Amino acid sequence: ILVGDVMTPMTAKISEEASIDEAAKLMLDEKVTHLPVIADDNRLIGIVTAWDISKAVALKCSKLDEIMTKNVITACPEEYIELAAEKMKKYNISSLPVVDGGKRVIGIITTDHISTLMARD
Ligand code: SAM
Repeated sequence: ILVGDVMTPMTAKISEEASIDEAAKLMLDEKVTHLPVIADDNRLIGIVTAWDISKAVALKCSKLDEIMTKNVITACPEEYIELAAEKMKKYNISSLPVVDGGKRVIGIITTDHISTLMARD
C-alpha cells in the first residue's frame, strides 16, 4: 500500500502570513489538528499543529512563524505506507504532509490513516 492510496488529498493549508488565531480557527472549521504552512508559490515551508497552538498560548507568542516547525518531515505519494509510519515513529510526530516533486503539498497522512488501515477487516 502506498501513501498516495490512503492519504487525504487536498488537505487544509495555511499561508505563512496568517495569524495564530486564523490557524486555530481553520483547525476548528476543518476539524484537523495539523496544517501545512505554505508560501505564496504553494511550496511547503512549515507545519503547525494543535500542539503548537498550545505552545503559543503557554508562551504568549503571536506570530505563526514563532511556533511553526520549519524543518518538515514529508512523504511522497509513491512511498510505502510502512516507511511513512516508521518516520512518524522515529520523529515522534503524528502526520506527514505529502508533497510532489516541486515541494507543493498534495495531501496529508496521519497516524489516524495508519490505525484505520490496521483496524479494517
Ligand atoms: N506526538 C505529538 C504529535 O505528533 O503531535 C506531539 C509531539 S510532536 C514532537 C509536536 C511537534 O511536532 C510540533 O511542534 C509540530 O509542529 C511538530 N511536527 C508535527 N508534524 C511534523 C512533521 N511532519 N515534520 C516536522 N515536525 C512536525
